[in-house]
Amino acid sequence: MTNESHHIVCPQCRAINRVQPGRESQATCGKCKSKVFENQPLELVGPTFDRHIAKSTLPVLVDFYSPSCGPCLMMGPEFAKAAETLYPDVRLAKVDTSAEGAIASRFGIQAVPTLILFNGGREIARQSGAMGAKDLVNWTRSSL
Ligand code: ZN
Repeated sequence: MTNESHHIVCPQCRAINRVQPGRESQATCGKCKSKVFENQPLELVGPTFDRHIAKSTLPVLVDFYSPSCGPCLMMGPEFAKAAETLYPDVRLAKVDTSAEGAIASRFGIQAVPTLILFNGGREIARQSGAMGAKDLVNWTRSSL
């Protein structure tokens, strides 16, 4: 099973790339040659969100935030640290709920920040409220 290749969606052109486990950090997109997976949160909007959630075989942890929310802004650097720690096992992404109302209402986001962990296109865990990097990592690992 460990030899099974990952399907990773390119952040630039949205092509689906097959990547061998262990090759995540070197992998470049077969279509546009961008790096397919880096250790930083990825900002997702409408169509890119759906594609990453549905097509990625790696778990995706999404921070639903709002730029006008104090706790969200405080959690930003912690979320970025967690992205480094969880790399390359989990893709971390952010959705600005003030700009992406359709996604926020689809997932019934009532408060920000809300974290949703997706795996295989399905929501597997959800948590509201800001967390530090260590708690983010522990919560994600224990939910998988
Ligand atoms: Zn690409």
